[in-house]
Amino acid sequence: MRVHIGKIKGKRGAYEDFSFHEALPAPWEGVEASRDVPVEFVGRVTNTGKGYHVEGVLRAVATVPCDRCLEPFRLEMASQVAEEFRSAPYGTRDSTPDQESPGEDQDALDDWNVFQGDTISLDDVVREHLVLALPPKLLCHAACKGICPKCGQNRNQVACDCMVDDVDPRLSALMDLLKKDQ
Ligand SMILES: [Zn+2]
Ligand SMILES: [Zn+2]
Repeated sequence: MRVHIGKIKGKRGAYEDFSFHEALPAPWEGVEASRDVPVEFVGRVTNTGKGYHVEGVLRAVATVPCDRCLEPFRLEMASQVAEEFRSAPYGTRDSTPDQESPGEDQDALDDWNVFQGDTISLDDVVREHLVLALPPKLLCHAACKGICPKCGQNRNQVACDCMVDDVDPRLSALMDLLKKDQ
């Protein structure tokens, strides 16, 4: 995903709207999707005078395996994006912020992305935002029963008769200790 800023270059306050529908190749951190992930990103890039402000709404739907039962399911992701970009010659991350005049945007200094030429690539920002939008556990549904540790069947599909000790191993060590005390 690349936005071209040639038309708004040198014009503070000028903006350009964009709308991307692209497939982002997987896997990326946390998402072992079986296919490329279709991503929609609709937003606006604005020339702020110092750089470019990109904001918009990001949506994606990935088919990923459930953390508990391993069955693939549709995972919908959405994120609100607001990012600053500065062109590389004066916006390189490695340049020491100390040399800038104090008080000017000090808190924003670490917080920009770098681009070169007339094109801003949004791919890294899009991936970062989607990874942050992931739930801590990827579950096909909140009540997923997972796989039976004894017979290996998917307990959402089969009601097996296995007797499973659901005690956490750390907890059982504690219970052993408690038994010794008695
Ligand atoms: Zn599941
Ligand atoms: Zn079982």
